[in-house]
Amino acid sequence: METAPLIDPFARPITYLRVSVTDRCDFRCSYCMAEHMQFLPKKELLTLEELDRLCTGFIGLGVRKLRVTGGEPLVRRGILSFFTAMARHLETGALDELTLTTNGSQLARFADDLAALGVRRVNVSLDTLDATKFAEITRWGRLEPVLEGIRAATRAGLRVKINTVALKGFNEDELFALVDWCGAEGHDLTFIEVMPMGEMGEEQRLEQYWPLTDLRARLAERFTVTETGERSGGPARYVRLTETGQRLGFITPLSHNFCESCNRVRVTCTGELFMCLGQEDSADLRAPLRARPDDDAALIAAIRAAIARKPKGHDFDYSRAHVSGQMSRHMSHTGG
Ligand code: SAM
Repeated sequence: METAPLIDPFARPITYLRVSVTDRCDFRCSYCMAEHMQFLPKKELLTLEELDRLCTGFIGLGVRKLRVTGGEPLVRRGILSFFTAMARHLETGALDELTLTTNGSQLARFADDLAALGVRRVNVSLDTLDATKFAEITRWGRLEPVLEGIRAATRAGLRVKINTVALKGFNEDELFALVDWCGAEGHDLTFIEVMPMGEMGEEQRLEQYWPLTDLRARLAERFTVTETGERSGGPARYVRLTETGQRLGFITPLSHNFCESCNRVRVTCTGELFMCLGQEDSADLRAPLRARPDDDAALIAAIRAAIARKPKGHDFDYSRAHVSGQMSRHMSHTGG
């Protein structure tokens, strides 16, 4: 197999792959999904074997960090066998990190096995510590199993990072409670600016937009907030709170501030490769996977051809009328 590493036209090595293993989820977070989602027919999804070939192909081309996401990755049947397959790349040293982003609902069940396979960190999405509000925002979720999942992960030795979508009028009043809780429990915390997705009235959508610049200004009312300049190989920027020593991350998907160092691509659960979060150009990797089940040459060629088209940066904002449709289509298969 060809081994020259993947480098895009702007000299950025592609070392981070985010792969969605399912479009299904056991929650229906209102900013993410419609309550009555039409999920894809099973034959459209990559099988676990195809996902293995695809990820192994990327790893052979220089990907060193693999993040498994969804939908909810831990509701995919047989998902542990996929993690087991990927763990072989940790053992050989080809992969530095195997990790996942989860809503935490199934984590109590999987934490020990994931830790035993070499997963070291897990991102858990959690927007509120209030059980009633949790049920409201996730529509179908319950808070307690998620908290239990987080405890199980910690017991198993996994480092937990909490991802919180900043929602005006929803978790504004919990800003300090979330920071304090993460500090006390030893979890990292990253805030994500909400993107225009899900199914809700446009008015509600605008009302929920809480810019992270405002959130940061609120933090500064109680803490000394210092920019750290650190990067973790992902899209977050970090600040430190002098008083507690905590590091907080900020992800602002709608701004351009991390394009220049972009090392990442994402693949949907149907094998569509997106080279940039903010642009629609994609490449079908399922066709080459299925055309030659015993030969990955066509897959590797398709990956290389796509990376040669990776754009310099993304290009969208709230003011563009067509954005919401574009993002829903894009994200419903990539799983954020
Ligand atoms: N089910 C997993 C989870 O809950 O983490 C993985 C998929 S989920 C789509 C990945 C992340 O995207 C979650 O942190 C979620 O909160 C975030 N997300 C979903 N919709 C979003 C939106 N409209 N704006 C910003 N982040 C969003």
